[in-house]
Amino acid sequence: MKVLLLGFIVIALTGVIIAAEPRKDVIPSVTIEGVVYEDIRFGRVMPPTVTIYHKRGVANVPLASLPPELQKTLGYDKIKAEAERAAAEQAKIVAEVHSTPSTTICTALAADLTNTNLLAKLKLKADTTQSPTTRAQLLTIYYLGKLCTSAGAEAQTAWNSLQVINPSAFANLFDTCATCGGKGTVETDCPGCRGIGNCPICDGYGWVQFSWSLWDRYRICQHCKGTKLCPVCKGQKTQSVHCRQCTNGRQFSRQKLQQTYWQLVTEACNQ
Ligand SMILES: [Zn+2]
Ligand SMILES: [Zn+2]
Ligand SMILES: [Zn+2]
Repeated sequence: MKVLLLGFIVIALTGVIIAAEPRKDVIPSVTIEGVVYEDIRFGRVMPPTVTIYHKRGVANVPLASLPPELQKTLGYDKIKAEAERAAAEQAKIVAEVHSTPSTTICTALAADLTNTNLLAKLKLKADTTQSPTTRAQLLTIYYLGKLCTSAGAEAQTAWNSLQVINPSAFANLFDTCATCGGKGTVETDCPGCRGIGNCPICDGYGWVQFSWSLWDRYRICQHCKGTKLCPVCKGQKTQSVHCRQCTNGRQFSRQKLQQTYWQLVTEACNQ
């Protein structure tokens, strides 16, 4: 009797254990794109989606929206998938740009000068253009557009590239410096004499007193060697220093940049 009872208990317990343990391939609950799915089993993986069977039916969900650990169990490589998606997207754009004349892109750009997608298309067009002249023209517009729309390293690259591809367009972006009148230097008071011109040690006498004895009290000023003049400016009172408002008398002008950009885009539309 005791053995029988024990047997029942064992069977009952096993039953409980089996009932309590969920089936291995069923996931109790997952939230995908804000929707909670319960009792999930995965069906076929067909990138970019996977079929899921759940408590209330069947759904196709993007693999990219699954939690990383589930993506892993399904053998989905997020980085690879993203790279493939981007490559496909890029191939589409390349094909589109290839069949579009550059004047069409420039016309669209003229209507929307800061559109970075159009600029990217223009760059693609330039890269696939055979004629060196047209290529340089399109690249010039592209770099001018980049200077208008980007900052930091991107703008720096455009700045450097424009100098190489079109030096005269680059030179157009500058005004004569108003501070130095284009000289690149400005006159300031000499720091050696604070703009007085005389030797500051001997006050312009050329001699200094060095003792209180009755004779031999003076000797030649060592600072100006007796010339009486400030040795820094040689009596000129001022000195030339680099103008801080410009580079070699030329000052970058945002207005000129925008003008040049607009002008070249318009010219390219009408070719
Ligand atoms: Zn200046
Ligand atoms: Zn002196
Ligand atoms: Zn001086």
